[in-house]
Amino acid sequence: MHGRSRDSSRPDELHFGPFRRMLRAALVPPSPGAQWSGIASRLGERLLETGAVDAVLAMAPDPEDRWKPRPVMVTDPAAMAGCRGMRMGYAPLLALLEPARALGYRRLAVIGIPCQVYALRAIERELGLERLYVIGTPCSDNTSTENFHRFLALLDESPDSISYLEFRPDYHVEIRFDDGRRREIPFLQLPIAQLPPDFFPLTCRTCVDYTNVLADLTVGYMGGEGRQWLLVRNTRGEELLSMLAGEVSLAQPGSAGRRQGPVRGFLANTERAAGGLPLRRLPAWLRPLVGWLMPRVGPRGLEFARSRVEMKAIETVLHLRRALPRRMYAMVPAHVWKLVEPYGLEPLPGERGPGPG
Ligand SMILES: Cc1cc2nc3c(=O)[nH]c(=O)nc-3n(C[C@H](O)[C@H](O)[C@H](O)COP(=O)(O)OP(=O)(O)OC[C@H]3O[C@@H](n4cnc5c(N)ncnc54)[C@H](O)[C@@H]3O)c2cc1C
Repeated sequence: MHGRSRDSSRPDELHFGPFRRMLRAALVPPSPGAQWSGIASRLGERLLETGAVDAVLAMAPDPEDRWKPRPVMVTDPAAMAGCRGMRMGYAPLLALLEPARALGYRRLAVIGIPCQVYALRAIERELGLERLYVIGTPCSDNTSTENFHRFLALLDESPDSISYLEFRPDYHVEIRFDDGRRREIPFLQLPIAQLPPDFFPLTCRTCVDYTNVLADLTVGYMGGEGRQWLLVRNTRGEELLSMLAGEVSLAQPGSAGRRQGPVRGFLANTERAAGGLPLRRLPAWLRPLVGWLMPRVGPRGLEFARSRVEMKAIETVLHLRRALPRRMYAMVPAHVWKLVEPYGLEPLPGERGPGPG
């Protein structure tokens, strides 16, 4: 779909996959109820408004549990507003492809996380569609909605009134409540140690597609320094972005700080955890100071995004090597080895598979 694979001689493609341009972006004004400014759901709305597609497949909240994702086939542009926001959990988005086809829909858009988009691309040809727009969001880790509820209960004493949660690139988790209150919790103060080791499943801990490389347009926040972060990957991605002309403010993404120290620290901790040892945690008295320092001197903007992609690559190698070593050959693409090389991780005999870089 991009006509080429990632080209590690082009800046940042080793980390983020093929792209034509990267942008910092915000919808102006932001959409109420959106996870960030609402670019993902607004794109779905524009595709329906302009008649470019018959339907958009996306995730809405379950009527019984707002944190449970429920796949929906949207045909009314106004109904895209009901898909705004992020819900942690798994739901079979692509199961809607069959019903869409049965209804005679031949022009579709899908908004999905990387594992959904990967599967979609694998069957795209068989679908026989006239047109397909793929809007992808990055995804670092997902978990079951039940697990997520347990996490919310550890974060706050009134978890049922939490309406929003985000792991922000300024090293804070932001939570919002039904009564309009907000809380910001530094990453270092999160109750991570109290979560079970399988809180994030092995599939997520060994995922090699954080940035949704097969999407036409990736819409995230990681490299956006408080705004959204767009990767326009091909001409269809350009077409999508042009549909927001006049309502989106665009700028060049910035980059600051150095990622090597934090990534090395992450590697050491992941090695300890994979070996069954407790995580090395900062002493309690130091945490507020480091929590204050990280957003100011830690990696920011694109450097933050690069650091997160490298951390995920390290996780893949360490967790897969421990849990399913025989899968290394087939599951670790060549570019992941390049990402972890500066940190002293190299393939053991039999681990390096074929495939492009
Ligand atoms: C589990 C998960 C982890 C994520 N991790 C990161 C990350 O580490 N870095 C990053 O930059 N971005 C991440 N994102 C994406 C981020 O949360 C925003 O969705 C994205 O920045 C778009 O914001 P927006 O305001 O444009 O979205 P909105 O306009 O509010 O639309 C949100 C869209 O997300 C979709 N969605 C919501 N929940 C799910 C779900 N469970 N599965 C599939 N699709 C869903 C909906 O269909 C909706 O279209 C993650 C998303 C999910 C679902």
